[in-house]
Amino acid sequence: MIEQNVPLRPFNTFGISVSAKMLAHITDPELLREVIMDPHLKKERKFVLGGGSNVLFTGDVDALVLKNEIGGMNLIAEDADAYYVRSGAGVIWQDLVEYCILNKYPGIENLSLIPGNVGAAPMQNIGAYGVELKDVFRSLEAMDLQTGEIQEFDAADCAFGYRESVFKKELKDRSVITSVTLRLLKNAPLNTSYGAIEQELERLGIGSPTIADVSRAVINIRQRKLPDPTKLGNAGSFFKNPVVDRFKFDDLRSEFPQIPGYHSDEKVKLAAGWLIEQCGWKGRVVGNTGCHAYQALVLVNHGNASGAEILELSERIARSVSDRFGVQLEREVNVY
Ligand code: FAD
Ligand code: NAP
Repeated sequence: MIEQNVPLRPFNTFGISVSAKMLAHITDPELLREVIMDPHLKKERKFVLGGGSNVLFTGDVDALVLKNEIGGMNLIAEDADAYYVRSGAGVIWQDLVEYCILNKYPGIENLSLIPGNVGAAPMQNIGAYGVELKDVFRSLEAMDLQTGEIQEFDAADCAFGYRESVFKKELKDRSVITSVTLRLLKNAPLNTSYGAIEQELERLGIGSPTIADVSRAVINIRQRKLPDPTKLGNAGSFFKNPVVDRFKFDDLRSEFPQIPGYHSDEKVKLAAGWLIEQCGWKGRVVGNTGCHAYQALVLVNHGNASGAEILELSERIARSVSDRFGVQLEREVNVY
């Protein structure tokens, strides 16, 4: 049941060749409890792995990897306003999106084609095209790795932020999300104003889009712009978009009039990809690593890069952005 010395290359989308001391395929919460409470394994460090699309391994993992494969998804309730859909944490996120589209449950179509598993979605409050997980989140269940107890979390407990949650901070590697329940509003308006969705719907000749059409548009845009991890190793955006105050933004705009900025309250979100591109990194190849040609925010493995090489490239990029704009980039990817 517990495998030893397991190569992790197939289990991370950067395609980094490292191995794990031990790995267990976790197919249900009871098995998870058995594994973590096993007296022989109690002292081992634990590492939770989903689809491996948001991790960078910089060395072998000296831990018991808990590979989350808890399945199952179904409609658990319905009221006048919403559908409630519960999914096991090991379900592939895109399978959940397709299930919802097939059943005409609106709300997550803009999150189409995000790699990874349902269980990792709350971890960084996944987001794309103007929708975040928190907008459709109802609750989740998570197991405490010390006690084996299952606890229920509502949105406030999760402390969702911009690509953040309590699971990325205090509870990182201390708690395993085992299931997630979404609340999908029946009359949720379609969100097509973000990015190139409207243009893509026009290109497809669609005047009155359904959720399936919006999903198709998002998939088309993503497939054109983002590298397919099965062909070119990557973990999506390496950095978060930095958020600065209005005064910093005004200073930047007076020096760089083209700088994009998205206002929300007193803060302004910058586009990290634009900052990196301005520093000349877009499309650059550095040894085995590089910056993607279409989106500078995505760092790639051109072959046999090690995690350390990718980390080093990311640090060079962050330094150049800091030197030029006085803005510190924060990593989105989880480095181990
Ligand atoms: P993993 O990489 O396996 O894990 C990520 C982190 O979560 C790790 O620290 C891990 O320990 C922890 N974790 C995993 N599962 C659990 C669990 N069950 N309980 C507790 N902790 C857990 N992200 C976006 O937000 N929006 C996007 O549009 C987007 N686009 C992407 C495009 C590409 C091409 C790629 C490669 C990545 C993209 N990502 C995007 C990043 C990534 O897909 C998401 O963050 C995704 O949710 C990660 O899921 P995963 O199962 O692969 O997590
Ligand atoms: P894009 O459309 O080129 O836009 C660049 C950045 O500007 C995005 O990061 C986005 O921020 C922001 N932006 C654009 N329009 C906006 C608006 N109307 N309001 C507020 N912010 C706006 O981005 P892209 O690279 O093609 O990605 C498209 C979407 O997919 C984005 O939402 C992005 O987050 C998501 N994506 C995420 C990852 C990842 O790994 N996290 C990877 C690929 C794509 P936001 O990121 O806050 O949306």
